[in-house]
Amino acid sequence: MTKEPVVLKRIDIEEEPPEKICHESGTSLENAIVLTANQPPGTNKMLIHLTAIQKEYQIVHRMICACGKLGHAQIMMQMMIEKQGKKYDVLKLRCPEKGNTWTIYFDITDVLKHVPQEEQ
Ligand SMILES: [Zn+2]
Repeated sequence: MTKEPVVLKRIDIEEEPPEKICHESGTSLENAIVLTANQPPGTNKMLIHLTAIQKEYQIVHRMICACGKLGHAQIMMQMMIEKQGKKYDVLKLRCPEKGNTWTIYFDITDVLKHVPQEEQ
């Protein structure tokens, strides 16, 4: 059974991503893919961010590339930005065949919410 690609809007870092994800997912700050985490207070910041990044990579591997192939996009660059009190992981993706690039955004504000203020 072939599943239709879905536009991913929100996912918990412990949750299994859908098998096929539209490459239109998370293409702007306003439509960023929201990552959530049910982690106890005091959770190690590096560890929880790493878990979130692993989830982001898993999502990219399940994304239908702009050219139509599953998991085809390469990650060219990864960075973290802050905008209006929210934190985002930004991934720059590239189709190795057609060469076109695009950017996807993950809202990781919730993931980092338990991290003590002085560590941020
Ligand atoms: Zn491609």
